[in-house]
Order: sequence, then structure tokens, then C-alpha cells
Amino acid sequence: MARARIIQKARQRYVMVPVIDPETGKQKEVPVTDLDGRPKLTRRGSRPIMRKLTVADKSQPLPLRKCEQCSKDLELGKPFRVISIRRQIGGYSRYRCTECPTWQPHEITSALWARIMQLQTEQGVDGSGWEDESEAEDAAEQVAAAIEELRDDKQESLDNMPEGLRDASELNEQVDQLTDWAETVRSSYSDASWTFPEGICENCQGEQLECSVHEDHSDDPDAENYCDGTEECLECNGSNEGEYRDEEEMEAWRQEAADAINEALNNSPL
Ligand SMILES: [Zn+2]
Ligand SMILES: [Zn+2]
Ligand SMILES: [Zn+2]
Repeated sequence: MARARIIQKARQRYVMVPVIDPETGKQKEVPVTDLDGRPKLTRRGSRPIMRKLTVADKSQPLPLRKCEQCSKDLELGKPFRVISIRRQIGGYSRYRCTECPTWQPHEITSALWARIMQLQTEQGVDGSGWEDESEAEDAAEQVAAAIEELRDDKQESLDNMPEGLRDASELNEQVDQLTDWAETVRSSYSDASWTFPEGICENCQGEQLECSVHEDHSDDPDAENYCDGTEECLECNGSNEGEYRDEEEMEAWRQEAADAINEALNNSPL
């Protein structure tokens, strides 16, 4: 795979123009040589491969290159990043400033392993703000959907293959594995061992309130200050039910729920 490099000093670039042979009036050509200086021959070996000569025209400076990420000019004399992508025919280079991050594998290859790495780095969930069970469920659903998007890409490639090749393609297995993986992530939520903390009444926090009326009460039913020592919570009428959840229990739930989803995400079957 292509390797990114840092060039220490950006130099001024110029328009390249053909070198004209004054004798013929045509562009000069020189033979292409191998490492030993011998001329390279065409595949049939009938004639040497020629290269047309060009030269930088100092009267035509080119504009500065720009960082593909932040669009800032790559200033002369300053370092910049470059990566050369080879294709079956030709290739091209991409440029970035040194303040922007270097290329991630998935940015320069469409290989499946790079797409999976991308999913795993970009889709990891953070449960720190979750207040409700549905938020964990939504997060798992979102990760599963991202995996299914990749699955759909593979399915499309499979559908586009000539019929005779389709059955034997490794894409079949990849589609199945991606489908299973998405399902595992989706159910990681419900399969996890944790439970969402039960809601209790914020006022009494599930405890029986003590009587606050009497300084001292009596357990004699005939006494004026008769009282069993308890008081009904006015918020929940003694049911102890409510929306309040213990923050420590919530924190443990968030952690475990997020861990379960991330673990399913990181355990790719491919
Ligand atoms: Zn940049
Ligand atoms: Zn209460
Ligand atoms: Zn009392």
C-alpha cells in the first residue's frame, strides 16, 4: 500500500514545456534506460522506448498546491505531506499540510480490511451521556446500520458480477459475515448481563420516611400523639416509584452497555 511521506521544503513549481530540437523543429526524445544504463526496449524488443523531454518554464510559475484537507496553501519552503497512489494505469499524488493528520488506510484503499478498521475507529460508542435505555439501543442500532451499509456495498458488487462467477465469489461469504456481525452488534444491547437501573421516587429515594410531625410520638392508640413513626411520601404516595436513578448505578450501566456494544463492534468475524 502507498506510504505517506513528508517533504521538508515545498519548492516553486513551473509549467513544463516541451524541449524543441532546433534541427528538426520537433520535441526532443531520449531513450529510457534501465538501472545499468542500457536502453529499455518495447515489449516486442523491436525498438527502444523513448521519452519526450520537457523543461520547467521559469516564466510560468504554477500556483501553490493546497492541502486537500483544510484547503490552506502549502507555502514555499515549508514541509507538507504527500502520498502517491498507484493505479493499474498511471497514478496520482495527494497533498496535505503537516497540521492536518496523515491518511488513514481507508482513505487510500477500498480494501475490506480498511473499511472494517474505519468502522471500528469511527463507530465506537461513548455512553457517558446516556440517561435512558433507548439511547444505548439507538447507539447499537446505528453501529449495526453502518455495518449493513458496508454489507450492501458488497452485495451490490456481487449483483454486478457476471452470473457465472457469482456463486464462487468470496463476496457471498463476506455478505453473510457482515450480516451476522451487524446482528451481533444490534443484540449486544439485550444480550449484555447488565440491567438498566430501576427508577425510584426522587423525594424518598425508595425509603420509608420517618414521621416529621411529632417530636415524640406514642404507640398508644388512645394517646393524642399516637403515631406509628412513619410518614407517607407526598411525591409518590408511598409507592416509592419514580424516575430517579442512583447515579452510581447509572454510571455502571452506561459503562457496561457501551462496553458490550464496542466489544461486538471490535470482534469482527472477517
Ligand atoms: Zn491541512
Ligand atoms: Zn416518594
Ligand atoms: Zn409521629
